Parts: sequence; C-alpha cells; structure tokens
Amino acid sequence: MTKNAPPVRIALVLHGGAGTIDRNSMTPEREREYRAGIENALRAGHAILQTGGSSVDAVEATVRVLEDDPHFNAGRGSVFTSAGTNEMDAAIMDGKTLRAGAVGALEHVRNPIVLARAVMEKSKHVMMVGTGAEEFAKRNGIELADSKYFFTQRRWDALQKIKAKAKAGADGSEKFIISEAERHGTVGAVARDSEGNLAAATSTGGTDNKLPGRIGDSPVIGAGTYANNATCAVSCTGDGEFFVRAAVAHQVSALMELRGISLPEAAEQALGEAKRLGGAGGLIAVDKDGNVALPFNTSGMYRGYLRDNGKFIIDIYK
Ligand code: ASP
Repeated sequence: MTKNAPPVRIALVLHGGAGTIDRNSMTPEREREYRAGIENALRAGHAILQTGGSSVDAVEATVRVLEDDPHFNAGRGSVFTSAGTNEMDAAIMDGKTLRAGAVGALEHVRNPIVLARAVMEKSKHVMMVGTGAEEFAKRNGIELADSKYFFTQRRWDALQKIKAKAKAGADGSEKFIISEAERHGTVGAVARDSEGNLAAATSTGGTDNKLPGRIGDSPVIGAGTYANNATCAVSCTGDGEFFVRAAVAHQVSALMELRGISLPEAAEQALGEAKRLGGAGGLIAVDKDGNVALPFNTSGMYRGYLRDNGKFIIDIYK
C-alpha cells in the first residue's frame, strides 16, 4: 500500500437465524433482547476490525458472543435433539489461505466456534465430530461445559410441543404451535479486515427434534460456510439439508467467479437454488470490495451489519 492509498474498507455482517419470525408473536421486550444480543456481537467484531485485527479474529469473536447468548440457537441456547440432548456444529474459514475448520455433534464444548478454529489451526484436519472432537478440545485447553449449561426452558418446552404434535398427528391445533422464533437462531458472521482479507464463521444447535447424529449445512464447508478472498465470504441459515444439496455458500462464490455477476445477484441465485429444492432460509455475505448482502426468503432473519460510517444497522423482519 502506498502512503496515500485510502484505507481498506472494513466490513462486518452477522445473522442470528432466518425463519418465520412473526412480528405479532414477538413482545417488545423480547425484541429488545434480540437487538441487544446482535449489537453486543457487532461490537465485539467491530472492536477487532477497527484496531487492525484480522477478519478471522473478528468473525470468531462475533459468533462467540452469540453462542453465549441464550436467545440464539448456538452454544448456550442450542435446540434439543429428539433424545433431549444438545448437539452443536460450527465452522470457520479463512478467505486468504482457504484454510477451514469445522466441528459437529458436540455436546460439551462451550464455544464450538473456538474449537472449529483450533481444528483449522492446530490439527491437520478440516472437520472433527463427537467425542474425538471433544478430546481434541480438552487437549488444547478449550473450555468445556456440562450439559446443564446448554439447558434452556424455552428450547425444552419447544421440543415437548413438537413431540406432542407428532404423537397427536399434525392437526394444526394451537397448543402445538411453537413460535418460529423458538426454532431459529443459528448464528454466523462474515467480515473483511483492513488488509482486505475475508472470513466466515457459522455456529448452530441444528434443527429442533433432529435425530442424534444429524449434521446440517453450518459446519459443511461450501454449504453453510465459505470464504475466499478472490470472491466473497458467506454464512447461511435455513433448512440445512437443502443448503447442503445446493452447496449454497460455495455457489455464491462460484457464480461470482465464473459468471462475473455481483454479490447480491449471486447470493439471490444460490439461495433460490436451495428454495427450488424445498429449503427456505437466508445468508449473509461480503465481497472482496467490502460490499455486503443479506438476502432471505423467510419472513424474517435476525441480522446486523456495520455501515461505512461506523453505525450498526440491526433488523429482524422483512
Ligand atoms: N442451517 C441450520 C441447520 O440446518 C439451521 C438453521 O439455520 O436454522 O442445522
């Protein structure tokens, strides 16, 4: 960079899950709590980017704050499997080196994103799951947590309703309806740092009532998470099985690279592909020039991003 070159534009975008988020079933207090959670997370990532820190550090820090916030379906607030356990998945990718780390089916790791990063940087692997991944966490001094730490009454009640509904047959009865806000909340962040490097991170408890052992798109590199300095960084949320089959995150990058289309167009098209297969959701993305996109085809997506003037924009509904 020459002495007088303009500073590289930093960018940060996060999501806290997409779904049918109904304005009428959300209390003002609850909405404030979600907004505060998003703001705290943006603040953590912004502090790093603003002081010249890396995009990898920024997305990890952002996601970590959301994992610690019980409102979101990741880390502490993870949904339950059909067996009443919590199984978490996460991934991180460095767009500069194309290195990546992913973890799946974790039951006792407080911050799955921290372990994903350790897999990226301290192992020769890309993805580790279950007890092997937890052993690796222990060996690397990563904080573990008892299953009780991941228990939230709201998620537990949601599981009971889903089970009751399945037992009674899907009669659409009011008492079985769980608010979609109870079901969604996968978290993710993408960033561009002051050196122009991109990174993406995603963390989730998966889908409510999933079978133990099920892994969705979030930790699958190219499906729920992808970053490449040549194109963009992407983190997805939605019906994971369809996002895997449409390889959504990598598809955004491939469309930009091979078709030469803009980030918003590529993001819409890739999301459209998952939708055609039957999966709804959204994604957040930043391109190599710092442009951002936050498309979703559900009624809401918890989301926030940093404007060029340093202001945070936070939104939930369409
Ligand atoms: N994509 C996540 C999964 O399938 C869930 C979500 O984003 O709501 O595990």
